[in-house]
Amino acid sequence: MDCVCGHSFAKEVLERLRNPQGNESGSNDCDGFLLVRNRDYQAFLASEQRVLNAESESERLRCVSESAQYAGNVMVCPQCSRIVVATATSEEDGLSGSYRRED
Ligand SMILES: [Zn+2]
Repeated sequence: MDCVCGHSFAKEVLERLRNPQGNESGSNDCDGFLLVRNRDYQAFLASEQRVLNAESESERLRCVSESAQYAGNVMVCPQCSRIVVATATSEEDGLSGSYRRED
């Protein structure tokens, strides 16, 4: 997902995977939060438990994929400070997009 200012969160995540220690300025971390719809929370927790209990790597990956269907993200753009919302249900809920703080 990209912010309207052009910042690429996907590129940032890839950079973090390539360089987990961060860059020299220490600003390699995307400030983000997991977003789970209230009515999906119990199912999400159960799916996360299945991830923890998986007995093989292939089972774990399948469980992670299942769990990811419940998870969205709220991220703070490091370039423009917009709040970028990516819900698990995407466009159908009308919430995904970017928002500016009012203060
Ligand atoms: Zn931005």
